Amino acid sequence: MPLFELVGCHDNMTTLQDAAYYKGFTDVVVEAQWLRRDTAQIQGSLGSAGIGFIPLVQGMGHHGPGSYDPACREAEGTTATCPVRRRTWEVLGAVLKKVLRPGVKRLHIGCDEVRIAAVCEDCRAAGLTPEEAYAGYINGCCQLARKISPSVEVMLWADNLCPHNWEGVSPPAAPLKLAGALKLIPKDVILCLWNYGPNPHVGVSNAWELSYAYVQIAKTVEWAKTTGHRFTGSPWTNAKVAQFWIDRLEKAKALGVIATNWGASRECDSVVIKAAYGE
Ligand SMILES: [Zn+2]
Repeated sequence: MPLFELVGCHDNMTTLQDAAYYKGFTDVVVEAQWLRRDTAQIQGSLGSAGIGFIPLVQGMGHHGPGSYDPACREAEGTTATCPVRRRTWEVLGAVLKKVLRPGVKRLHIGCDEVRIAAVCEDCRAAGLTPEEAYAGYINGCCQLARKISPSVEVMLWADNLCPHNWEGVSPPAAPLKLAGALKLIPKDVILCLWNYGPNPHVGVSNAWELSYAYVQIAKTVEWAKTTGHRFTGSPWTNAKVAQFWIDRLEKAKALGVIATNWGASRECDSVVIKAAYGE
């Protein structure tokens, strides 16, 4: 049965990521409109199919629960969440209480595509740098999550931390360069890497784009090895690039690979699924 059907989210679903870990361990990362969906039901449906459930509760960058509440936003007209506002933590606390159910071992907190940080009045009054604000949000999430579920592991997208994600990317698409935040983030936080490779929406893959993707992926994995964090990686649509990712991640003893549903191709999916589940 397709994962979308298993979790009962035919609409309102923004993200479904198949977090396929090596060594026979398989979980699915699900981001839904939490306030409108029954988390227990999602977890139950996945569990009955032998699949673990990783709730994705976005924040900082985009589309977290706080982004629906103006009192949590870093700036009007954005979906960025402010880590200083008390309301941010009230909203997050309510959502985490709902999704960190018994049996949930990992929580994905997003934190990708952060393009503004520490610009609001409250952040400026606190004297925070963007790196401190970013790390403050992550640390706050870890503390809040562990208050609810003491052994839960926290994971996040690492594009704002890894310099190789920024190479060749110009504003407004370029993420904020927050590599300095890495030293402020607990070592048990899992980094989810991506350098997706050729973008199918802007042009047909060519040899140059492919070789650029290989170089960036190789550099990204090498970077991850120096961080002291456990990590995973994520391909996008290109099967050759996916295989390259998987080979690199296996060699680096990463936790595994995450297949995503946004714009993923059958060709790419089959490579990732084969790596995770076998033939
Ligand atoms: Zn702020």
